[in-house]
Amino acid sequence: MGRPNNRIVIAGGGTAGWMTAAALSQHFGSQATITLVESSSIGTIGVGEATIPTIRNFYRRLGLQDQDVIRATQATCKLGIQFNDWHKPGSSFIHPFGMYGQDVRGIDFHQFWLKLHRQGRAAPLGEYSLGATLAAAGKFVPPSPNPPSTLSVYDWALHFDAALFAQLMRDVATRQGVTAVDAVIARVSQREDGRIAALHTECGQRVEGDLFIDCSGFRGLLIGETLGVEYQSWQQWLLCDSALAVQSESVEPPKPYTRVNAQEAGWQWRIPLQQRDGNGHVYSRQFMSDARAEEILRANIPGALNATSTLNAEPRKIGFTPGRRARAWENNCIAIGLSAGFLEPLESTSIALIETAIEKIKTLVTNFDFHPSVVEEFNQTTALEYERVRDFLILHYKASQRDDSEFWRYCRNMALPESLQHKLDLFLNSGYIVNYRWEMFHQPSWLAIFAGFDVLPENYDLRVDQFPDEQIEHSLNEMHRSLQRAVSGAPDHQQFIAECFPAERPSEVAL
Ligand SMILES: Cc1cc2nc3c(=O)[nH]c(=O)nc-3n(C[C@H](O)[C@H](O)[C@H](O)COP(=O)(O)OP(=O)(O)OC[C@H]3O[C@@H](n4cnc5c(N)ncnc54)[C@H](O)[C@@H]3O)c2cc1C
Repeated sequence: MGRPNNRIVIAGGGTAGWMTAAALSQHFGSQATITLVESSSIGTIGVGEATIPTIRNFYRRLGLQDQDVIRATQATCKLGIQFNDWHKPGSSFIHPFGMYGQDVRGIDFHQFWLKLHRQGRAAPLGEYSLGATLAAAGKFVPPSPNPPSTLSVYDWALHFDAALFAQLMRDVATRQGVTAVDAVIARVSQREDGRIAALHTECGQRVEGDLFIDCSGFRGLLIGETLGVEYQSWQQWLLCDSALAVQSESVEPPKPYTRVNAQEAGWQWRIPLQQRDGNGHVYSRQFMSDARAEEILRANIPGALNATSTLNAEPRKIGFTPGRRARAWENNCIAIGLSAGFLEPLESTSIALIETAIEKIKTLVTNFDFHPSVVEEFNQTTALEYERVRDFLILHYKASQRDDSEFWRYCRNMALPESLQHKLDLFLNSGYIVNYRWEMFHQPSWLAIFAGFDVLPENYDLRVDQFPDEQIEHSLNEMHRSLQRAVSGAPDHQQFIAECFPAERPSEVAL
């Protein structure tokens, strides 16, 4: 093939920039040249350690296996998220990546469970999920590729070191021919039609392109500062706008799940890696001072704080506005990552939104003319994806029964977006969970949150009454027993990692 004449320029080399560079260099091959401009003097956000299972498809498409990524990024396996103190102080449940129970004659399992739960004859919902039961027991085994029934359907993701993951992506991208430029972008020039012409670095280099991808982080150097696309705040629903992040020594074998504990005006995460833990306190400045937030963070980290290349031993403050860019694609510029929007890290959705943006580019960009229909499709679907994630996150706050602080009282009383109110009303009045287009979280995830917060309908599918209660109870008990048996034979998470995916020492990571 001749010399490529399509030029893609990526501004920013954080997780978003290097994931985009790796995936697009593979996708376009010799049909485009890719240059990435980043600044080591500015650095990256450095957090973003919990993922959802789609990440595994993302890196598999790049030719990487689980063991490659787990070893290179000191990762652990993640079966879900444990929510502590969210429903009420003292409460706990796991949102697993997986299904619950077994459907019977086309009737969803949860319809049977709802009936028995009302009668006090069913175990908590999580005990009918293999993913949640494995997680609660601290065990891990990959799911069967051919599960015999929905009872054994679950999935898994990773907790990884964000800096090592970005380095791995960088390694893949540069091997595929991406050119990296380490320089501060001082200026962006535009053509007469408003399209971006070039990035100009502080050292005088001019990087021209046809398509510009803005991965410059919260700043939105191209999409916001240059093209003036406004940022829509969703802070009326998602109050948290600050985080304090710090790494600590692990004090226990790594759990196969992320822990998120509700606090007075937000929540705190603990993410176990092979060698250390990642911690952070996400809170609302309207309801809590930074000093109080730091006090809570420190009081709830069991291990000593430790310093690494990306974070020092002092908690690092990060401010953000939950929301999204009104249009992720404007002229010849597409925003991916934090420049496109950020909700909050509760359900680990940010990296997944980077993945879906990349997939959309792969599907929609078949030429570099950028017809308005293509741009419109990208923008509409991106907006829907963000709104669906937003609704899912808001539910966690709205459904809480906590009334021990102003923050939680505000959340309980806030008005909801119409799309979420409809979903909630429908479930409460019929037991039916509607699936919207472009939803990242499907029925089992919504069910996990509804049940975890005890937001449950009075009604259930009428066909359930065709089965005698004793028969339903017997089936549920059988499912419960078979899950307990499966879990008792599974290896401990730590043992599984040590045997299957031992980490490379940081100095040995092949990058
Ligand atoms: C508190 C917190 C916790 C999070 N936790 C999770 C999580 O658990 N899971 C998850 O999926 N996501 C999480 N995220 C989101 C995740 O961190 C980001 O989505 C991800 O890191 C992508 O960031 P980015 O690459 O868009 O931006 P950044 O990492 O900020 O990278 C921006 C890049 O742009 C470059 N740049 C900026 N300006 C210039 C300039 N003038 N010249 C040259 N280069 C420039 C920088 O040098 C850098 O390379 C979290 C975010 C926060 C704030």
